[in-house]
Amino acid sequence: MNSGNPGWDERTKWPEAGLVIFDCDGVLVDSEKIAVKVDVQVLARLGWPLTEEEVVERFVGRSFADMTADIERHLGHPLPAGWDVPYQRLYREAFERELAPVDGVVDALDALTLPACVASGTSHAGLRHTLGLTGLHERFAGRIFSAADVPRGKPAPDLFLYAARSLGVEPARCLVVEDSRYGVEAARAAGMRSFGYCGGLTPAAWLAGPGTTVFDDMRKLPALLHG
Ligand SMILES: [Mg+2]
Repeated sequence: MNSGNPGWDERTKWPEAGLVIFDCDGVLVDSEKIAVKVDVQVLARLGWPLTEEEVVERFVGRSFADMTADIERHLGHPLPAGWDVPYQRLYREAFERELAPVDGVVDALDALTLPACVASGTSHAGLRHTLGLTGLHERFAGRIFSAADVPRGKPAPDLFLYAARSLGVEPARCLVVEDSRYGVEAARAAGMRSFGYCGGLTPAAWLAGPGTTVFDDMRKLPALLHG
């Protein structure tokens, strides 16, 4: 995935960090475990029964548009616009019952001295909802970027590059915090260092790769980012 940035994994000296880009689901809000359970129900109703493990492998970290395209490919027919609307209530209710910040992330954000933003595959409405439910929205208001803003979701670099450009920081000065394989691939494709959180659903081996520091406890993040 880093073929667009020849030699970057040999780079030994990075410029001083100027921006931390946080993924939302699984990094800021502990939504993945909740969403995967609902995804399993929704996919089964659409006619594609998958296990939770298969959903994690296939969809976690991807944009809604990419997920829709995958479902259409599997089913062999297009889904109507707004196909997900009847299911949105299932996610909303599950989040309202169970959603919390990722363990340790509030302390990590408090300790962070670098500017920070959010870049997520989730829609702006979804981000307002989940960040709002967990009390994190205020911290990032005005610095929240959605894959809906760009042509291609992760693992394409578009969203991270858009966030960096919007905030006037060069890609090489951005640090990306991600919990999915598509997310760390997107960071590499964008020429950014990444920090892969394996304390949730994603095994460490899926995150490991060039320019990526894998970690399992959000409490360790400030030292890693400032190191
Ligand atoms: Mg994520």
